[in-house]
Amino acid sequence: MFLLALIAVLGAALIVNTTRLTSHQVPPGAPADITIDQAMAVTHLAGAIRFRTITTDDEARIAPDVWPTFHAYLAGIFPLTEKNLRRETVLNDSLLYTWTGRRPDLPPVILTAHMDVVPAAEDTLAQWTHPPFDGVVADGAIWGRGALDDKNAALGLLEAVEALLARGFTPERTIYLGFGHNEEAGAASSGAAAIAALLRSRGVHDAVLVDEGGWIFDKIPGVARHVALVGIAEKGYVSIELSVKTDGGHSSMPPRETAVGILARAIDRAETHPMPGRLDGAGAALFDTLAPEMSFGMRVLFANRWLTRPLLLNVLSKQPSTNASIRTTTAATMLRASAKDNVLASTAAAVLNFRLLPGDTPDTVMAHLGDVIGDPRVTIAPYHGERGDAASAESRTDGPEFAALSGAIRAVFPAVVVAPYLTVGATDARHYGNVARDLYRFVPVDQPGSTELLHAPNEHIQIDVYMKAIRGYAAIIRGISN
Ligand SMILES: [Zn+2]
Repeated sequence: MFLLALIAVLGAALIVNTTRLTSHQVPPGAPADITIDQAMAVTHLAGAIRFRTITTDDEARIAPDVWPTFHAYLAGIFPLTEKNLRRETVLNDSLLYTWTGRRPDLPPVILTAHMDVVPAAEDTLAQWTHPPFDGVVADGAIWGRGALDDKNAALGLLEAVEALLARGFTPERTIYLGFGHNEEAGAASSGAAAIAALLRSRGVHDAVLVDEGGWIFDKIPGVARHVALVGIAEKGYVSIELSVKTDGGHSSMPPRETAVGILARAIDRAETHPMPGRLDGAGAALFDTLAPEMSFGMRVLFANRWLTRPLLLNVLSKQPSTNASIRTTTAATMLRASAKDNVLASTAAAVLNFRLLPGDTPDTVMAHLGDVIGDPRVTIAPYHGERGDAASAESRTDGPEFAALSGAIRAVFPAVVVAPYLTVGATDARHYGNVARDLYRFVPVDQPGSTELLHAPNEHIQIDVYMKAIRGYAAIIRGISN
């Protein structure tokens, strides 16, 4: 009898929690009243793709005149922007545009994108329907490297600015456009970091920033509508080396345990005992926002996380993409041991790459590794002595900035659900923590299957998707600059 009553109370609590959920969606804002010449915009982006602004590990491989000619190209195709905004080069190859607002006393807006692209690997060239740097327009799409990452954002922003200028629009807040030239290079001296330092030296602080990161997804389990994922934080990054030193020697009389064997067990322990999963911060914010938009069964699960958390974490751990959003991930990436088949390794070493959830730090990861490996013969140290980066701070979702961004997205994509999330890859936004208070990682692109095209063959953007992206940027500029 008591058990029945308990089940009834529990059932009632689950239902009450579920029905109490209300949508977080803001009403669509006003669409920007702009005219875009589609044929021109397509020509501009296709032309931009033809510039081989490729970032490789070897900077010498970039043709030396590619950046100045690309800058001149942008100046030529966006004459109103060139006339009304101040354009500066930073670190020679990056660009900073300044569009002074009516109220320069208000915190400014920083809109960023990167102009460089990854190479098209030699052995994948045969898979491209259209060559990666020809900027071909065919089958209703613009094809080539940078069509989605990230020349669509740089050119899309400039098209939006140009169209707004043509309508006589002046922003209230000052707007900066920051276009880095080496985002894909990782640790190299970063154009974005130099732009941020320059802005800082000019007194910029507490800005609102929009960079790449999320876009609009069509396949979020349990949600029928497309979802605009806006990154409010990004994961940190650290690589850690495990190494084992032994006497080495000839392999004809090996000891019971070799350096390689000891190392292999340590890697296995690290992989099978990852950092614990968590549903908090940006991850929790995502599910709080999505839950009210889900089917009833899924709503029950997500509205009652006090009860369902272990189950949810278990399910989310199964897929690499969802696993990455709930924990600091462990990826064994490099191995080094003996160079000869009949020589015992005197040193065996492996590198593990970790992407850090907010709250975890390189130090907590090292401590965790020490615990789970539990073998003093394994030395655990930062790879190349680099201490790595902690995750970014989390930007606000309850302020007017996020509401303005959401309203702007819904002005152009009225049917989408806008949700905050944790960006698992690294973006240039991480360099702007000093000058911006709220950093949102989102590109207004709604093209199913786009994620698979990043850094891959046949990168392309459909023309209608690109036109909407430009309108999206115009709405974002209007929405958050006023
Ligand atoms: Zn990118």
